[in-house]
Amino acid sequence: MKRVYNFSAGPSTMPEAVLNRAREEMLDYAGSGMSVMEMSHRGKEFMAIAAKAEADLRELMGVPDNYKVLFLQGGATTQFAMVPVNLLRGKKSAAYVETGLWSEKAVAEAKRFCEVKIAATSKADKYLMIPDRATWQIDPDAAYLHYTSNETIGGVEFPDIPDAAGLPLVCDMSSNILSRPIDVSRFAVIYAGAQKNLGPAGITVVIVRDDVMGETLPHTPSLFDYRAQADGGSMINTPPTYNWYLLGLMLEWIRSEGGLEAIGERNARKAAKLYGVIDTSDFYSNPVDPAVRSRMNVPFRLRDASLEKTFTQEAKAAGLVTLDGHRSVGGMRASIYNAMPEAGVDALIAFMGDFERRYG
Ligand SMILES: *Cc1c(COP(=O)(O)O)cnc(C)c1O
Repeated sequence: MKRVYNFSAGPSTMPEAVLNRAREEMLDYAGSGMSVMEMSHRGKEFMAIAAKAEADLRELMGVPDNYKVLFLQGGATTQFAMVPVNLLRGKKSAAYVETGLWSEKAVAEAKRFCEVKIAATSKADKYLMIPDRATWQIDPDAAYLHYTSNETIGGVEFPDIPDAAGLPLVCDMSSNILSRPIDVSRFAVIYAGAQKNLGPAGITVVIVRDDVMGETLPHTPSLFDYRAQADGGSMINTPPTYNWYLLGLMLEWIRSEGGLEAIGERNARKAAKLYGVIDTSDFYSNPVDPAVRSRMNVPFRLRDASLEKTFTQEAKAAGLVTLDGHRSVGGMRASIYNAMPEAGVDALIAFMGDFERRYG
């Protein structure tokens, strides 16, 4: 068996320890004589798995008691709709910060439900920077302020939590949740699809403050209602049980790696190394404002774009795969989430140096 270093932006690499544990437990979970996939979601084994995942997430992120943690289906894209449906609460507009293609998508979906007031946008700057907080125009009548903490495609990440001028703050944290410690109490809602930093596709974590739940738009389906989901323990209908279990294994792995402080330091080190190589060469380049470069997704270009295909082909032969940039922006992109070992980044750096010597 040969494992590669997989730099995919999502679904993305998972720790070998997690995959091995899932394999060991595949046919007979903890003496139950069955796979987690085959269990009733209301049985005692699965209820324990679900509760452990929630407890681990709460402990890792320091989620305060006045927040619910939901495990839902539909990905982050469903949250683009669930956020306005739950948070408008009688208001007619919502404020959005636009820093890339994912926040654009969140805006487009919100427009189906309300007026969107763009508080700040870096569209004219090709989404290569984040507008200075002092320039934001946040409508005080907006129901909430939404932003995307890490733009997976553009490789732009907020270094800090922005001040929301008193509005409930909502964050799409799909591609950097659990990548470092964060103060959850600053947020009304945090959501993240799992397939970047939390495990497999098909399960979405939503962390919601109690006081913003319970007042949805008319005709809202119960599955879209945060309050109903919270009251039903995210089991109004059959949840994605196996994904929930795998997500739980990911959380245990993060704990075993030393928690978010340790993971955050490692992520900072991995990213600094890779940007270091890009910045000290005139063969590679990254166009993003250095102050807001992503520690999770590192897009880069070759001086000679005609070498891109050769680069990805040779990288693949060296066991470094899925380095193509997003189809909308081209170039290269290395996604280096929690589960990408430092050795994987080192191997990529070595390959880049070798490639530059041969073609530069
Ligand atoms: C991947 C991604 C999404 C979309 O997630 P789905 O689970 O496919 O709906 C949304 N926002 C960000 C920041 C992402 O990286």
